[in-house]
Amino acid sequence: KLFEDCGFGAPLMSTISKQGYEKPTPIQCQALPIVLSGRDIIGIAKTGSGKTAAFVLPMIVHIMDQPELKKEEGPIGVICAPTRELAHQIYLEAKKFSKPYNIKVSAVYGGASKHEQFKELKAGCEIVVATPGRLIDLLKMKAVKMLRATYLVLDEADRMFDLGFEPQVRSIVGQIRPDRQTLLFSATMPYKVERLAREILTDPIRVAV
Ligand code: AMP
Repeated sequence: KLFEDCGFGAPLMSTISKQGYEKPTPIQCQALPIVLSGRDIIGIAKTGSGKTAAFVLPMIVHIMDQPELKKEEGPIGVICAPTRELAHQIYLEAKKFSKPYNIKVSAVYGGASKHEQFKELKAGCEIVVATPGRLIDLLKMKAVKMLRATYLVLDEADRMFDLGFEPQVRSIVGQIRPDRQTLLFSATMPYKVERLAREILTDPIRVAV
């Protein structure tokens, strides 16, 4: 399996090779065709598997396929992650692949200035990477709308639940249009995560590495 088979455009292929990614990792091999086809997915994979690129690369394709909408309508891609460290890592990966495109990535998480993040989201972006609590705060403050969000990623869902973010995750999902594409990644599938997946994913395909 090769990245060439995914039909990525030249700018994305160039960033992939600049990153030194020679061939897709096992989770990427399994997930990329499914996600690129528009289907919902449950990916059972750990950090280090290359799962970030498995959802970031199709997200760039998804965003480039959208009709031009105003930035004021909010992000197209929404990624929730359990910790600020993970959110920051995802942010860096998303920024690398967004660079050749007119795609703005924002990251919002606890432990950093809410005022700065408010201004950042107000200015508009195509992708937001967030910890659930901070995103809820900013939604309540009307820093951001979810009117054009059509690609939702829940990363490390089991850890988000361990940290008590289930209500916040559910609230965020409830504010995003139901005809979105939804991707759920988790290292383990405890009952609570399984139950959420059944409720918020549409006919998902399950892959595990
Ligand atoms: P992740 O599991 O997404 O945190 O990725 C783990 C590490 O693997 C990161 O440093 C990525 O940059 C790297 N990586 C992701 N995909 C590939 C690939 N196809 N080939 C080589 N390295 C990769």
